[in-house]
Amino acid sequence: MDVVIVGAGQAGAWVARSLRQEGHEGRITLLGREPHAPYERPPLSKGVLSGAEAHPPVLLTPQQCEAMRVDFRPGVEVTGIDRAGRQVRCADGSVVAYGQLVLATGGRPRMLSCPGADLPGVHVLRTIEDSRAIASKLVPGHRLLVIGGGWIGLEIAATARKQQVDVTVLEAGPRLCARSVPPQLSDFLLAKHRKEGVDVRLSTTVTSIGAGRERALAVQLSGVAKEFDAVVVGIGLVLDTGLAEACGLEVRDGIVVDPSGRSSDPDIYAVGDVANQPNSWAGGRLRFESWANAQNQAIAVGKAIAGGEVVYDEIPWFWSDQYDLNLQVLGIPSNDLAGIVRGSVDQGAFSVFQVAEDGLRSVIAVNAPRDIKVAKRWLKQGTCPPPSVLADVSVRLDKL
Ligand code: NAP
Repeated sequence: MDVVIVGAGQAGAWVARSLRQEGHEGRITLLGREPHAPYERPPLSKGVLSGAEAHPPVLLTPQQCEAMRVDFRPGVEVTGIDRAGRQVRCADGSVVAYGQLVLATGGRPRMLSCPGADLPGVHVLRTIEDSRAIASKLVPGHRLLVIGGGWIGLEIAATARKQQVDVTVLEAGPRLCARSVPPQLSDFLLAKHRKEGVDVRLSTTVTSIGAGRERALAVQLSGVAKEFDAVVVGIGLVLDTGLAEACGLEVRDGIVVDPSGRSSDPDIYAVGDVANQPNSWAGGRLRFESWANAQNQAIAVGKAIAGGEVVYDEIPWFWSDQYDLNLQVLGIPSNDLAGIVRGSVDQGAFSVFQVAEDGLRSVIAVNAPRDIKVAKRWLKQGTCPPPSVLADVSVRLDKL
C-alpha cells in the first residue's frame, strides 16, 4: 500500500520513519511546503535564535531518505484531496496517488489584525527563515516588542534578554501562559521575566503599528505610543485543516481521529498539532501542540498503518527552556486544583503537584526533572504519596 504524508514537520517525518521501522514495504511519499529537509522547531526560539546553533537538527537527511526509501519532495504545496480517486493534487500541477493518506499539516502563526500588522519589521516565528530574520534584530540596546505572553513569546523574550536586547512583552489576557498553566505558575513566570529586565504588560493590546520617528516602528499599546526596532507576534496557531474540511472529513478543533489516528475516512490519518484524539489523561478529547506529542503520535500512526493494533493514549507532556529555567508540564493542569509545592519557588527549583480526589492530576516542575520522571510512573500506576510526603524535600521521591 502506498502512503502519502502531507506535511514534513516533526509529525510527518516521524510517520515516515516509523512506517519503515515497522516493516512497511510500500512507497512512502513525504510532501512538504518548506524548501528544507524536515527539522526540529524547538531551537528556533532558543539556539538558532541566539546564533548558538547554525541549523536546527534535521529529522530526515537526504541519506536517511535514500536508506529508508522515502520519496521526500520539498517545496510542494498540496491543494486538494480527491477521496474517491485516492489522490492528492499539488500546486505545481502534479498528482500523487495514495492507498493511505496522512495529514500532518500543523498550522500557521496567527496574525494580528490591527493596522500595520503587515509592515516590514513585524515578525512571526515558525520557520528557520523566521528565526534568522528575528535573530538579525537581536542587537544589544535594540528595542523588541513581543506580542503574546505564551510559550513562543516568553522563550523569545528570554533569548533576546541574553543578547542585551530591551524587551517588552505584551499579553492580552490577565496572566502569562493562561491556557496551559495555573495562576501560581503564571505569577512565577511573570516575576522571573520582570527580574530579568523584561517589561511585561498584562491585559494590554496593540491597536495599531506605524512607522516610527527614532525607531523603525511606532506601536500603540492600549492607546499609548511606544517605538521599537522590531516586533514579534506570538499569539497562537491557526490550524491548517483546510484540506481536511474541503474533502469532507470531520473537523472540530482539529481533525477528529480515533485512538489509532484514523480520521472519519478510514484511509486518512491525522497527526501532530492538527489531530484531535481521545486522551484519557485529559478526560476527553485532546489536541496537543507539543514536540513530544507530534513525535509519539506519529510513531503510533506509523505502527497503525503498518498493521499494528494501536491505542495512542500518552500522558501529555511538554517543556520550555527560559533563562536558567527548565520548565516541564506533565498531565493537564487544572485552574481549580490547589497545588502542593515541593522545593523552593524563590530559588527557582520546585514542583507543583496537583492532586484530585481520584489521584495525581498534573505536575509542573521547574528545574526539577526527576520529579517529572517519578510522577510519570505514579500516573501510570495510579498511585501517589500523601501531600505531606510530596512536600517534604528530605524524602527522595524516586526511592519511595
Ligand atoms: P500560545 O502558547 O497559545 O500563546 C499565545 C498567547 O498570546 C496567549 O497567551 C494568548 O492569550 C495571547 N494573545 C492572543 N492574542 C493576543 C493579542 N492580540 N495581543 C496579545 N496577546 C495575545 O501560542 P504561541 O506562544 O504563539 O505558540 C505557538 C505554537 O508554538 C503553540 O503550538 C505552542 O505550543 C508552540 N510552542 C511550544 C513551545 C514549547 O512547548 N516549549 C515553545 C514555543 C512554541 P489568550 O490565551 O488569552 O488568547
